[in-house]
Amino acid sequence: PTKTRFAPSPTGLMHIGNARTALFSALYGESFLLRIEDTDAERSRREFVDELLADLRWMGLPWQEGPQTAEPGPDYFQSRRGAVYQRYYDALEQNGLAYPCFCTPRELEISRKIQLSSGQPPRYTGKCAHLNPEEVARKRAEGLEPTLRFKVPKRETVEFLDGVRGPQKFATDDIGDFIIRRADGSAAFFFCNAIDDALMGVTHVLRGEDHLANTPRQLLVLKALDLPAPQYAHNSLILGDDGAPLSKRNGSRSIAQLREEGYFPLALLNMLARLGHHYDSEDIMDFAALKARFDLSRLGKSPARFDIDHLKHWQQLAVRSADPATLKPWLHAETRALVPEDQLAAFLDIVRSNCLFPAEADGWARILFADELKAEPDMAAAARGAGEAFFLAALDAATLAGADFDAFMKALKAKTGAKGKGLFLPLRAALTGRHDGPELGALYRILDPARLHRRLAEFTY
Ligand code: GLU
Repeated sequence: PTKTRFAPSPTGLMHIGNARTALFSALYGESFLLRIEDTDAERSRREFVDELLADLRWMGLPWQEGPQTAEPGPDYFQSRRGAVYQRYYDALEQNGLAYPCFCTPRELEISRKIQLSSGQPPRYTGKCAHLNPEEVARKRAEGLEPTLRFKVPKRETVEFLDGVRGPQKFATDDIGDFIIRRADGSAAFFFCNAIDDALMGVTHVLRGEDHLANTPRQLLVLKALDLPAPQYAHNSLILGDDGAPLSKRNGSRSIAQLREEGYFPLALLNMLARLGHHYDSEDIMDFAALKARFDLSRLGKSPARFDIDHLKHWQQLAVRSADPATLKPWLHAETRALVPEDQLAAFLDIVRSNCLFPAEADGWARILFADELKAEPDMAAAARGAGEAFFLAALDAATLAGADFDAFMKALKAKTGAKGKGLFLPLRAALTGRHDGPELGALYRILDPARLHRRLAEFTY
């Protein structure tokens, strides 16, 4: 059975990019694991773990294994797995496959600059690989804290088949010996990420293209420790609608922000699931349906484009298809305070085709259930333009027809001879003050009769 995982570093809020990684992984795996990669103590925050869990729950991505709270524990928080990693560090050192490195950041920086200025790609020179045990012991005695580097084999190639990008080949001579344990003793990404995938039985790693070049390093570590390697699939980057990598500037948003704005998780899932993955259907689908049709071979190699209008499209479908039990809690308190409970269902039915967000529903609640109406400037003029006689006739027709909108329109037409826009626009203007909005009949029926009459009477002087 396939097992996938989402392995976020809790150093910030979840954004479109990692949300897509999480979703694809949850869609693909028969089981899906969550692991918190918090070995960078300085940048990792407990609040971000809280946020992550909340975002995943809100999105409705179920993980079968992983933490249920932000309380760090030894199973799924890498910061608490030091003892596990130590065994593997020891094994590597004992086999001469890793060595302590005492180079200071300054020394490394100088060496990097020299390499760059002579046109070589910067990589660790292997200097500390040649220290003998006495030198190591002396440096340790001086109180120097080494990092631990993995000794990359010479003149080999690492090959693997990437689930998205096909066959990959990397020469080990292009890879410098890399750090697997930091000087403060914490595990470095290349190492603990790979080890944990193996120890946790992960079969497939779906992650961003930015990790592609890390994969040969991780495969080398796994091979050195005789641990099983997962299959990797690296998803193409997400670009903004300006073609640049997704960032704050071109519309990237945190999931928390989208939730705050009133997006439905269903809308987000449907947008994300098509960001670099192709579905034959344009229908809005729930998680189970998206999962049933998710197919690795449908992941695209070319960059995906994030367009907020796509998200709005799915939002519209989500709002239209949501049941009242979902829509009610979505509304702001302001709307719920204005709309009488027994009219809430009717209100939702009326406005759902005109609203993407709860804030827009607030607007319609004020229009339909508050006395004061603030008309758009040209709408007041449009109503006035129809003339006093029109509205006197409308008042008569409304008195006659009651809640029967068709009867009302028929009577008004007969009395005034108005039709088409000349009929609808002044009515819409008087009743809502808006040029656009829900169907006029529905508005007519939901307005309290006394309020309806007052709004028509407004233009009879
Ligand atoms: N913690 C890593 C990240 O957030 C995980 C990368 C991976 O999926 O392997 O980038």
